[in-house]
Amino acid sequence: MTEDCIFCAIVAGRAPAHRVFEDERVLIFMDLFPAHAGHTLIIPKQHATDLFEVGAEDLAAVVAQSKPLAAALERVFDCDGIAVIQLNRAAAGQTVFHYHMHLIPRNAGEPFGVHGKRQAPAERLAEQAARLREVFEPAG
Ligand SMILES: [Zn+2]
Repeated sequence: MTEDCIFCAIVAGRAPAHRVFEDERVLIFMDLFPAHAGHTLIIPKQHATDLFEVGAEDLAAVVAQSKPLAAALERVFDCDGIAVIQLNRAAAGQTVFHYHMHLIPRNAGEPFGVHGKRQAPAERLAEQAARLREVFEPAG
């Protein structure tokens, strides 16, 4: 854990997040600046800056939970598709330097983005996280 990392602060409960799922290795929560309704992040609890640093078991755990999360997103948001996006280092567009995988519901014909410009209202994110928790069936 690093002291100035916002995702480590979320893992530790020192910063708020709308949690969908967690186990000993990973945490899934709603992106505060959604590119689309249902935009979620999967992170390893153990701090790693990016793909170059993340441990193989943590990476496997993140990938494993992406599949049931995609299914839950499709059920809750009735989307046409799911973008899975993972950015490494500033040159690639990474903005939080703790490894994370984006899952972003997509609908046909909508403009594409990864980082939303406006923070979503907390009550909306809380409601979406609750709906996802109801249908999420974790891998493993
Ligand atoms: Zn961190």
